[in-house]
Amino acid sequence: MPGMMVDSFGRVVTGLRIALTPRCNLNCIYCHHEGEAKPNGEISDEMVVSVARAAAALSVRSLKFTGGEPLLRHGLAGLIAQMPQELDISLTTNGIFLAEQARPLAEAGLDRVNVSLDSLRPEVYRAITGGGEGDLEKVLAGIDAAKAAGLAPIKLNVVVLKENEAEIDDMIDFCREKGLILQLIELLDLCHRGISGDIDAIERRLAGQAERVRMREMHRRKKYFLDGAEVEVVRPMDNTEFCANCTRLRVTSDGKIKPCLLRSDNLVEIGTCDCEKIMGLLQEANARREPYFGKDRLHEGRSTIIAPIIK
Ligand code: SAM
Repeated sequence: MPGMMVDSFGRVVTGLRIALTPRCNLNCIYCHHEGEAKPNGEISDEMVVSVARAAAALSVRSLKFTGGEPLLRHGLAGLIAQMPQELDISLTTNGIFLAEQARPLAEAGLDRVNVSLDSLRPEVYRAITGGGEGDLEKVLAGIDAAKAAGLAPIKLNVVVLKENEAEIDDMIDFCREKGLILQLIELLDLCHRGISGDIDAIERRLAGQAERVRMREMHRRKKYFLDGAEVEVVRPMDNTEFCANCTRLRVTSDGKIKPCLLRSDNLVEIGTCDCEKIMGLLQEANARREPYFGKDRLHEGRSTIIAPIIK
């Protein structure tokens, strides 16, 4: 259909994720760097604006900025102010600089935010974030500032690791109290760095406790409702259902369209700020989309259906 990106598996692209910089002020022990191996330079504001316009013209509805750390991007509020009105604009951040930036970003047109926070214990948080600038108090202040600035919903991104498994109930209570959505993310450890986490056990427990479970359109992610708390579970590993329902394209911090987080052999170089040409390039990248975890790459013995869906 013209004006839309539908791939040969029938998957429609409704979301775009743009990395604004490869730079980050933290050094999280598990970071996948959005699948960027060796980024070369930083995408220009002009190119980001053209890509956003081209995506909107192709019926993309939501745009998420990521990084590196997107709050390190110079002139971020000015860039957000140039985004097409019809797009839902969000970003994912480690939250360290959010206290200062939440209000100007909201005033510029940012709609919502995901804050990555893997522990509520200062020492654990510092260790997971690489022992450097990981100051938990700053992130907590950032979350409060985001709420005060009217960004909504606010999601708390937690990668499930053995370091934080014992804190999941505390995280649920924290999110319930603050009115945040908890997003539990399965660790992608394709480099086998020896980091681990058992999201399976946690999801089984959630499934047993939840009064309601809902399925989201994107990736068929499950959302569990527990006594006023909302917990979304993101499980991409070996998950054919997740890939079969992927609605995303990505743009790397050095200006390439990336059809899949887990692949770097099918990128499309942008190399222009001409909106019409970029529409063609987005279509080309869309044509290169294919489910990463299809039957060829599916590992054995993994069940992805944990709980029945009760709408
Ligand atoms: N610096 C920003 C932040 O902290 O949100 C944006 C970049 S970060 C790569 C984006 C998201 O990817 C974060 O929520 C992070 O927890 C998640 N992430 C990074 N590496 C991951 C991995 N190996 N497995 C699962 N999620 C990961």
